[in-house]
Amino acid sequence: MLQSIKKHKAVSTIYARLPSRIRLGASVYYSFRKLIKKTGFLSADELASYQSGQLKRIVAHCWENIRGYREHWEENNFSPDQLITVSDIEKIPFTTKEMIRDRLDDFSCTSLRRLRKVSTGGSTGIPLSFYQQRRNELIELAFIHEIWAQFYPPIDLKTKRTILRGKKLNGPVGYDPLHGLILSSFDLTGETIGRYVEAIEYYKTPLLHAYPSSLHLFTKLVEQLNLKINHRFQAIMLGSEILYDFQVSQIRKVFDAPLVNWYGQGEKTILAGYCNHNTRYHAFPQYGITEIITRNDSRAKSGETGELVGTSFWNYATPFIRYRTRDYAVQGDPYCPECRRHYQLIDEIKGREHEFIVDKKGKLIALTGVSIVCGSFKEVQQFRFYQETMGEITFRYVKKPGVVKVDTGFIQKSLKEKIGEFFHINFQEVDEIERTSSGKMMYLVQKLDTGKFTGDER
Ligand SMILES: [Zn+2]
Repeated sequence: MLQSIKKHKAVSTIYARLPSRIRLGASVYYSFRKLIKKTGFLSADELASYQSGQLKRIVAHCWENIRGYREHWEENNFSPDQLITVSDIEKIPFTTKEMIRDRLDDFSCTSLRRLRKVSTGGSTGIPLSFYQQRRNELIELAFIHEIWAQFYPPIDLKTKRTILRGKKLNGPVGYDPLHGLILSSFDLTGETIGRYVEAIEYYKTPLLHAYPSSLHLFTKLVEQLNLKINHRFQAIMLGSEILYDFQVSQIRKVFDAPLVNWYGQGEKTILAGYCNHNTRYHAFPQYGITEIITRNDSRAKSGETGELVGTSFWNYATPFIRYRTRDYAVQGDPYCPECRRHYQLIDEIKGREHEFIVDKKGKLIALTGVSIVCGSFKEVQQFRFYQETMGEITFRYVKKPGVVKVDTGFIQKSLKEKIGEFFHINFQEVDEIERTSSGKMMYLVQKLDTGKFTGDER
């Protein structure tokens, strides 16, 4: 193991001379870090006026340069002169994923410099390609680092971290001189876990950045094999997936560090993270405008659930204006009394469209609520729900090593308490639960089109 680490070190000196990609973007990155710091504690009125300026700017750009938006808005009787204050955003018609997917070039301004086409969507949902500029990646990083900086103030482009995410490597462990220690989420097993722990102790990076599902499995293996990790991370950065309560309690058994989570999407219309006082999601007002919209298209009140609708300030290539994300969340207050930021709070992320199950009567139930009990299934190593019929779900599971028989009666009873009586639950023991192509561990394979149902839950 140490041999292989030394080899990686030799590579690092060669690479260290070539971070021109980072040097080029550094000025964008640092100017945004500065902007967020400068505006983070502005009053509600000051932030509203900042947002209204950014909104008018990008709307004018769309009106002048982007045919798809101009047509869509004219058809719906909207024109930019109707925008006076930021709350006038409600006059702009919604944009959907399908509109942009079907007419990408009409909804894009491709004459901008340094464009690249990116794709999002992955294993489920609607795959979507769109354009953004090179600088958008640096802007994104600046915002994410401002969340992290509350827990680790020295964070910048040079900070090394331990990364347990969906990166395919030649083996389970690798070292990338630009980012730090890379642990593969694909190769995580009882046989390889010792190497992961050894590498963590060797590199001792200040931060750990992991998919919640990968870190959940990692800590289960560490616990089962009685391994000890002496290195103490300053903070653990999650993100990219819904964070379930059963994952948090499992991760805390092994790591004594703050867990930091945030919500964002590939389209970069909303970014909202924890502050260093509580686990509510604080939506950055400098990033874009975050709305939560109920089923009858009105703005959700505090405590109400609705669809997240985002307007991005920074992508002028394929702008997303009042974009329906198909993600559901619970509206919070417009102010955090603990960190004193006038940011829109999101109390809970309920899930993506495919993270709901459907009962016999067509009611949607969020997996976030169901999964609370899953931490108590002590004999289960991994699990996944599968649904293809209304009111019927299959609980697929892998036994923990050494367990002869799993008490499915107990699982049945615990699940029924959460999902109600209008479900039939099947059990299926399997040898393996496969990770998705991105290395994540999906907890639900939903074959039904949940968009067709109107449940009370969301
Ligand atoms: Zn706060």
